[in-house]
Amino acid sequence: MMPVSSIPVFDGHNDVLARMYRPGQADAVGGFLAGEDGGHIDLPRARAGGLAGGLCAIYVSSPTMRPDENGDFVAPAQPDALNDTMAMARLLFDLEARSNGAVKVCRSAGEIRRSMDAGAFAAILHIEGIEAVRADLDALYVLHQAGLRSLGPVWSRPNIFAHGVPFRFPASPDIGPGLTEAGKDLIRACNGLKILIDLSHMNEKGFWDIAALSDAPLVASHSNAHTLCPHSRNLTDRQLDAIRDTGGLVGINFGVLFLREDGVKNPQTPIERIVDHVVYIADRIGIDHVGLGSDFDGTTVPDDLKDASGLPRLIAALEARGFDADAIASVAHRNWLSVLERTLGS
Ligand SMILES: [Zn+2]
Repeated sequence: MMPVSSIPVFDGHNDVLARMYRPGQADAVGGFLAGEDGGHIDLPRARAGGLAGGLCAIYVSSPTMRPDENGDFVAPAQPDALNDTMAMARLLFDLEARSNGAVKVCRSAGEIRRSMDAGAFAAILHIEGIEAVRADLDALYVLHQAGLRSLGPVWSRPNIFAHGVPFRFPASPDIGPGLTEAGKDLIRACNGLKILIDLSHMNEKGFWDIAALSDAPLVASHSNAHTLCPHSRNLTDRQLDAIRDTGGLVGINFGVLFLREDGVKNPQTPIERIVDHVVYIADRIGIDHVGLGSDFDGTTVPDDLKDASGLPRLIAALEARGFDADAIASVAHRNWLSVLERTLGS
């Protein structure tokens, strides 16, 4: 067993592509590869912190929501969503192409393992909210051919497939209706294509619709325990139990507003609050169902963690709480690799 300090992290969610896509950057790809001041992840800081890879999300920002004649907020058309999605996917492929082998876009669990062994950053292309895809799913099939291996049908807003859970505190995740008919077709298509379905940002009715329909393990890539932090984005004990029953996984989100009992966005939050959620979920459903889902570059994380280079401080905090090397390896990367292997194939 390797020493605890050198256990690599494979992480379930980052928003580095969305950060790189924000306007005003002359060479975001070069900045990622060489290192930069802002944000949470670049290649030098990933290496310094033992971040060996993860799910890299494409996120299309929200249009202004307007109520319809019944006062319901409906999904507006997002004509630029497909082009924005293409642009962020291209950023990842450019990263791979310009990295001299230091970044690899992976399409299977075996590719992730080989990339991690070779010291390359193993990226899985993920989409968080698929406004780019119409009900005919044409773009889904093409994106899969291009390398897409994971998607959340919704971000925290409605679209033609499902209803995302809005950010509320304190609040139950049971807000809004379940999957649409197009959403059910989408789930069947993802099962057929072996695309991971991410339940983070799904409202509770949608969660249960997917639990009933999908034949894949249930995965929430970046969500926490609702009992410890009653945010609408977190998972109830019943949801946690359903994830366990399918051999699924919860990736623990480092965002302070999803960690804290008071739901306050306070960066002066100890790293130990991340460990609290690992402990709670491991105690409830077993350590094989807990991973990490940092939300780096997408949320406010504890100042003590700072960015990807701070991951060894989280590993040390897990060790201080009594996790041995085997348990830490499970949480840090092994459980993610296992669920990806069973979903994407080896
Ligand atoms: Zn998210």
